[in-house]
Amino acid sequence: MKFSYLNPTQIHFGQGQIAAIANSIAKDQKVLVIYGGGSIKHNGVYDQVKEALKEHQWLEFSGVEPNPTKETLDKAVQIAKEQQVDYVLAVGGGSVIDGSKYVVAAALYNGDGWDILTGQYQVNKALPLGAVLTLPATGSESNAGAVITKAETHDKLPFFAAAVQPQFAVMDPDVMKTLPERQLVNGLVDAFVHICEQYLTNPAGAMVQDGYAEALLKNLVTLANDFDQRDNDQWRANLMWTANQALNGLIGAGVTHDWATHMIGHELTALYGVDHGRSLAIIQPSLLRNQLDVKQAKLEQMGKNVFGLTESEDNSEANDLAERTIQEIEAFYHNLEVATQLTEHDSDKATAIDTIIQQLESHQMIALGEHQAITLKESREILELAVA
Ligand code: NAP
Ligand code: FE
Repeated sequence: MKFSYLNPTQIHFGQGQIAAIANSIAKDQKVLVIYGGGSIKHNGVYDQVKEALKEHQWLEFSGVEPNPTKETLDKAVQIAKEQQVDYVLAVGGGSVIDGSKYVVAAALYNGDGWDILTGQYQVNKALPLGAVLTLPATGSESNAGAVITKAETHDKLPFFAAAVQPQFAVMDPDVMKTLPERQLVNGLVDAFVHICEQYLTNPAGAMVQDGYAEALLKNLVTLANDFDQRDNDQWRANLMWTANQALNGLIGAGVTHDWATHMIGHELTALYGVDHGRSLAIIQPSLLRNQLDVKQAKLEQMGKNVFGLTESEDNSEANDLAERTIQEIEAFYHNLEVATQLTEHDSDKATAIDTIIQQLESHQMIALGEHQAITLKESREILELAVA
């Protein structure tokens, strides 16, 4: 095992913590507050941010959409440049925070911001960024990743740069009170898959990463089983902290990563508008079955340590425990009423698969997974299973 680990984001966790913004951004900084479609105007978050920034000079940019687009974000980049903004404060879910990461990087670049996504421009500097999280799911509030869409071409691509990681993140579980049930569920699913993409990969042996990943997975299973308690403070706080820890670098340090479910899922979102979390639930079970040979031992470990399964008495079916684990994962989604088949897109399935494969190819997503073994052939097999 070999790794360097640093997570520089200061977390202000708990009720009333939005006020901590006041002292987290120096008073001489000109702040651009970026938010989404307006949910923060209806739940008191905007007012709390306004109060915290009362001694700062600040301006705002609203309208960042779910699955944020370059087309919208470029308008914020222009404002940041023209108004000589010093600091960006993202107030929202993963889309607003990811979008703000694009803005802080593109604001210090003279070319087209999309160059960041194609890799033509490597981000090594950015405006400083802070975040107020309103939807626990992505972990974007304390990681260096972002996913941006180019609406014109239906491209949805990720980028990673240490320079765009938020300096601080406010995580007040009270802000979740107005979250639609659909978004709460999406968050549970996204966090679950984030853990799997870093855990169902490497051979057993990384005791800290495995043990911590299993603890987080068990939390999510418990929170899903206790979904009727979602109006409880403790339930909200536990989901918010679990989703954060799922993708803050810790469980991924020194282990191999997969991310194939995410990369294929991104195409479903970009082409057909499937919610991010739901795109993952459609792809993941089929991908696990397709990759059973390499994932078997880890699936068996997950079955025992997360779902409390035991070896079957009858050893005749070697893959049984791994398959039963995949069934538990599917049951986790189904209990949340999340589909694990591409049912949401009802046009010609064969055409859909061809289109997704073409997009994967154009995005160079041709050797995915922890062993780069998911070529376009395997992606097609996975999609065929997922639309069965
Ligand atoms: P989101 O797209 O940020 O938000 C979804 C919806 O929830 C929006 O309509 C938003 O409305 C609403 N919402 C947010 N907070 C709310 C609240 N407190 N009350 C009421 N409504 C609220 O959802 P997300 O799942 O957090 O982010 C998904 C994006 O993150 C995708 O693009 C995905 O690819 C990306 N992602 C990033 C990472 C990463 O590491 N960076 C990892 C996984 C996924 P408003 O617009 O009105 O606020
Ligand atoms: Fe995700």
